[in-house]
Amino acid sequence: MTFQGFDLPSELRMLADTISEFVREEIWPVEARTPGHARGIAPDDIEQLQKKARDAGFWCLEAPERFGGGGLSVFESVVVSEQMAKHRYSIPRPGSGAFGLEPPVALYHGSPTQIEQYVLPTIENAWSAFIAISEPTGGSDPARAIRTTAIREGDTYRLNGHKMWASGADHARYGVVYARTDRENGRSGISAFIVDSDTPGMTVDPIAVLRDHWTTELTLDDVIVPVENLIGEAGQGFALAQEFFVRGRLRYAAQALGVAEEAVRHALEWARTRETFGALLATRQAVQFALADARVEIDAARYLTWDAAWTADQGGDARTKASAAKLYATEVGFKVVDAMMQILGGMGMTCELPLEHWFRGLRVSRVVEGPSEIQRYLIAREMLGSAALGR
Ligand SMILES: Cc1cc2nc3c(=O)[nH]c(=O)nc-3n(C[C@H](O)[C@H](O)[C@H](O)COP(=O)(O)OP(=O)(O)OC[C@H]3O[C@@H](n4cnc5c(N)ncnc54)[C@H](O)[C@@H]3O)c2cc1C
Repeated sequence: MTFQGFDLPSELRMLADTISEFVREEIWPVEARTPGHARGIAPDDIEQLQKKARDAGFWCLEAPERFGGGGLSVFESVVVSEQMAKHRYSIPRPGSGAFGLEPPVALYHGSPTQIEQYVLPTIENAWSAFIAISEPTGGSDPARAIRTTAIREGDTYRLNGHKMWASGADHARYGVVYARTDRENGRSGISAFIVDSDTPGMTVDPIAVLRDHWTTELTLDDVIVPVENLIGEAGQGFALAQEFFVRGRLRYAAQALGVAEEAVRHALEWARTRETFGALLATRQAVQFALADARVEIDAARYLTWDAAWTADQGGDARTKASAAKLYATEVGFKVVDAMMQILGGMGMTCELPLEHWFRGLRVSRVVEGPSEIQRYLIAREMLGSAALGR
């Protein structure tokens, strides 16, 4: 039997099918009794769903097996991420960790003590963690924009600065904060630090955004962390985050695919039963063309996403392919959801159906994890080489 038209290994197909069933049987009923206008599911429901997902074996599936995670390859991750996303809210995602997040990947390169004190308990005890790279000075080009400083003072670092958009910091136990340890060295002057959320000097304020779950801003005012909290070497911050960019971008691409597929399913059901001017919408060519375009574009986005994931698993440099997949899948996902809302007419505008949630969520996906323009820039830079930099 094939899956999405491909003959995938039976174990992966079964995992994707089981996650899809979990979404339908466990998450959809909770959403059905949650008011459509609610901003996400109640925290108690999230915790219960997390527990059920965990009991069913869907927990931190992307984290390496040696740390107690599922050890999914990049390809396996994108296949299951698409299924995880097929519900109204982006949290909870069965298969990820607490509040939809897995341990920050930079920490997988941490010291044995960091692994023991942060990575293992994050997986075992369902801790959640945030990642703080972006700042008020900009997130598209963080190597230049980061102003937060980490000054070494004997056995400690003193952190000062301001971070924007750190998702999940309001309920996280700790986070990874990127700060400048060397004022002169652009990219190689950035280091990554573990910061416990209750460290004196750090304050977290919510930022309301378009999507259902909000984000936060952090103020770091003389935050002191021990040198043991530096991950890897000083100046290695971005090198440690490389893996995160490929997996992170492909996760956004896969989620866009899942949501777009669901939007099409809703529109198909509607077109088959809704009559206007004496005929079903399904008989109207304008409706047929919108559905056909959605089919072609979703499939094209899936090819890009799966190809990038496959390349990463073969040990190839998948960064540009991941950029292409994230760019195309999130743009197509947004366009498809918009077109399917149009087919649903007034029903497409209601908060009772999930489409408007996806519309807002995908609008955000076109900016986070690198805006579409930055993905285009990265693709063009590989095509043009140094000419793209004016050299
Ligand atoms: C809901 C949400 C959650 C987030 N979560 C996190 C998180 O957990 N951790 C974290 O560190 N960050 C997070 N971010 C930050 C996110 O990654 C940044 O918003 C994003 O990288 C863009 O940075 P910016 O907002 O500073 O926009 P800017 O860098 O100021 O760019 C603004 C716009 O200018 C355009 N642009 C920029 N450069 C170019 C160029 N060279 N060519 C053409 N156009 C260009 C793009 O359209 C871009 O959208 C989150 C953001 C949001 C909205």
